[in-house]
Amino acid sequence: MKDKNIHIQNLALELTRQCNLNCGHCSRGEAENHVMSDEIMEKLFDEITTVDCLQFIGGESSLVVDRINKLAEILTKNGTDVFSCLVFTNATNVSDEYIEALNKLKKVVKETNERKSKINVEIDYKKQVLQAETRKNLLCKSLLV
Ligand code: SF4
Repeated sequence: MKDKNIHIQNLALELTRQCNLNCGHCSRGEAENHVMSDEIMEKLFDEITTVDCLQFIGGESSLVVDRINKLAEILTKNGTDVFSCLVFTNATNVSDEYIEALNKLKKVVKETNERKSKINVEIDYKKQVLQAETRKNLLCKSLLV
């Protein structure tokens, strides 16, 4: 039982400040070697009861798969209700571990017909147009199984 009853519509988490790209449109500034600690994640979800949409914004979440696994573990343990996820990724690093972690998180999320989880692939078209569709298809197909 939580001490407080906090409902958040859109909760944007920067799981890391790391990124393997340097897109022209990026509003996040220079990448930095920081990741969100267990303590911050635990404290955050100790106090939050429900989240309509949990978002992973840049840095690049695929570089910190262990943080996604930890988050799924915390949400399972403490009973925070999350109704959908929106994952921003550049999809250049779609490892089996990343897909597995996102699917683990998806199992914890209580989607409804009105609230579905989504992947938003960030593409710097000037640099990456040739690979963009391939990467997007790969990621989408992986998450639909
Ligand atoms: S992938 Fe996202 S966080 Fe990384 S540089 Fe591009 S826009 Fe910024």
